[in-house]
Amino acid sequence: MPATPAWPPESAPRLFVDVRLESGLSLPINGGQAHYLLSVMRMREGKVIKLCDNQTGEWLGTISMVGKRDLIVSVEGQLRSKEEVPDLWLLVAPIKKARIDFMIEKATELGVAVVKPVLTQRTVVDRLNLDRLRAHMVEAAEQCGRTALPVLEEPVKLAKVLAVWPSERALYFADEQGGAPFAQITKHHKGPAAILIGPEGGFSDEEREAILAIPQAVGVSLGPRILRAETASLAAISIWMSAQGDWA
Ligand code: SAH
Repeated sequence: MPATPAWPPESAPRLFVDVRLESGLSLPINGGQAHYLLSVMRMREGKVIKLCDNQTGEWLGTISMVGKRDLIVSVEGQLRSKEEVPDLWLLVAPIKKARIDFMIEKATELGVAVVKPVLTQRTVVDRLNLDRLRAHMVEAAEQCGRTALPVLEEPVKLAKVLAVWPSERALYFADEQGGAPFAQITKHHKGPAAILIGPEGGFSDEEREAILAIPQAVGVSLGPRILRAETASLAAISIWMSAQGDWA
């Protein structure tokens, strides 16, 4: 007996939309998303797509009307609920454009819950294009079948973040000058956590002192070699996900 083909087809395009989805909704799609569906994916009336709203989850949509540069999608049934991700925050000092784009994309794929850009003394990037970073998160989520996006917060000065550090959350401070082996540390602590990654120039001694003064902070090493911030971020998240997250 041939297996019944999966429905909707795995190849069905996935789109994140800004409206809360529900059955029966007629959803107008225009701009870049319409271009992607009509010109790149060559979608036509009657074809199906998957829609996500980062609130309820993933829904099946059928293209009900196609215009020159826009289309209407009828929202049918819910396919999946919004997924849970482990309670991990990533605190990162903004770094140069292509590199922070990479860092944000990998943090999304790896299941980070919240990304908090923190401004440190040696941060050379003075402004962040959050819309661009959010677009990278959405693209990574669309490509990787995700139904949840990390929360991306506005940049805040490191001192301000430390001043209100939540008592129940471990702060793993990736210290390029060394610390406890991260893989060992994460084995012995369950619960909410955050990973702090510095900028290209690292942390100043004054910052190091202020961070380690936080009771929940632990200075951790990511090995004997200095890594670029985006590499350190990916490595640290992976170690945490493997030891405490949901990698089973
Ligand atoms: N320019 C600095 C390195 C900065 S690397 C120097 O040469 O010392 C950017 C960030 O990545 C660091 O602030 C730290 O958070 C993290 N990082 C890089 N390598 C690391 C390592 N081996 N252990 C812990 N953290 C590391």
